[in-house]
Amino acid sequence: MLFDLKHFFDTGKRPYESRLTVDLSARDFSGAVIPQPVQAQFTACPVAEGVVVALKAEAEVHGDCALCLDPVRRSYAVDAEWTVRERDLADPDFELPLEEKGKLNVDEWLFQEFMFQIPTVLVCSAGCQGLCPACGRKKAACICPKEAQQAAPVDARLSILKSLLN
Ligand SMILES: [Zn+2]
Ligand SMILES: [Zn+2]
Repeated sequence: MLFDLKHFFDTGKRPYESRLTVDLSARDFSGAVIPQPVQAQFTACPVAEGVVVALKAEAEVHGDCALCLDPVRRSYAVDAEWTVRERDLADPDFELPLEEKGKLNVDEWLFQEFMFQIPTVLVCSAGCQGLCPACGRKKAACICPKEAQQAAPVDARLSILKSLLN
């Protein structure tokens, strides 16, 4: 959804509210995805300093545990608020995604906010021990000797995980 913020500065006298459904399923959140359409609430409210825009949503994120590769399903919520001043509309460094002519790209804003909420490394649980580099099974389930479990991982994907965690 594009919200004509510039127009709202000129004509908006009362709060505006919109409920929208945003499809973020094609977007990548550091390897995790949001497969279901996201229900979001967008509001714009004229105030003395400018316009307060706000965005609320909640979504279930699907990813893989960075340690054991098990699927991870977790809900994340977005609750963002921003006071926009009229001069912001012409500022190329303004942090909200504005299109030409002062239109706010609400879908893109929602993506950015989820990007901010979702950690780049997901783990299934705080106590996850990860995979054994020798047998590839979960450490909790494998019967390899301790030295083998500590050995350098041979699998490239495990090496990447290891470097991520260091
Ligand atoms: Zn795990
Ligand atoms: Zn093992």
